[in-house]
Amino acid sequence: MPTNSAGLSLRPFSCGSGRGCCTVPLSQNADQRGENRTPSNHPIRTAVRRAGSAGVPSARITSMQADPAAQALLLQIADIDTQTRQATTRKRTLPEHEQLADLNQRRQQQGEQQVVVRTRVEDAETALERVEADLAPAKARLTRNEQRLDDGLVSDPRSIKATQDEIAHLKERIDNLEEQELEIMQRIEDENARLAELVATRSAIEDEMRTLLASRNATVAEIDQALQTYATQRAALVAKMPTDLMALYHKIAERLDTGAALLKARRCTGCGLLLDASAMARIVAAVPAEVVRCEECGRILVRTAESGL
Ligand SMILES: [Zn+2]
Repeated sequence: MPTNSAGLSLRPFSCGSGRGCCTVPLSQNADQRGENRTPSNHPIRTAVRRAGSAGVPSARITSMQADPAAQALLLQIADIDTQTRQATTRKRTLPEHEQLADLNQRRQQQGEQQVVVRTRVEDAETALERVEADLAPAKARLTRNEQRLDDGLVSDPRSIKATQDEIAHLKERIDNLEEQELEIMQRIEDENARLAELVATRSAIEDEMRTLLASRNATVAEIDQALQTYATQRAALVAKMPTDLMALYHKIAERLDTGAALLKARRCTGCGLLLDASAMARIVAAVPAEVVRCEECGRILVRTAESGL
């Protein structure tokens, strides 16, 4: 097997995509010319280069031994872990959460506007009471003065003139106060109409929130039910597993969410690494009970009939 200056093994390589994009009979000269390379952003190329350049094989045999049937169960556990993670993420990111937060914000804004408008109504009502309080004595005084003149109780010409002047002044004041009264009453009517609009809008928002809450709660309950099922299934599987194998799985899963992956057609399905021929040879040589790990991601590689061994 030829090697380049960095000691990297040069061997025919395929990404396994079936597209022929990365079927590369690598040679040192071609490599130096930059020809026949897998695309630089190809995930498989990255994985192979990292494993190769570190001078380590792409799979390693651990010192651990475990019943192949138990190793196969790891795939079911990994599948449950993936589904659990996806369900938990879905529960956390349900669109209803954001929609409810937006609606609640709008509801609060409507509430704040209601307070402002209600305050304006109360201020106007106070102003109306004040005007009406001024209006009542002015009207009473006008009536009294007019009555006195009508009854002939004022006979002195100067007093008649003074009473007539006061009547004119009172009429002017009453007109003025009545105009203010009408303007305030109109303002109260307008503000009350605005308040009714705000109350109706807030009520519609609350109806929408109630519908969304019901929908969200139903979805959350559904997800919780699924999570409960996953947990039960997982516990049943874990109960059958050797302690040391599960401990290794959990240690890897802390970092990668799942601790095992199927070796399928020479590829680690956990990280996508395509194992090179020497790594495959080591796996083929390993007895089924030996626990094999992907050198790239570290997951336990579970061998089945699909592994391409
Ligand atoms: Zn891997």
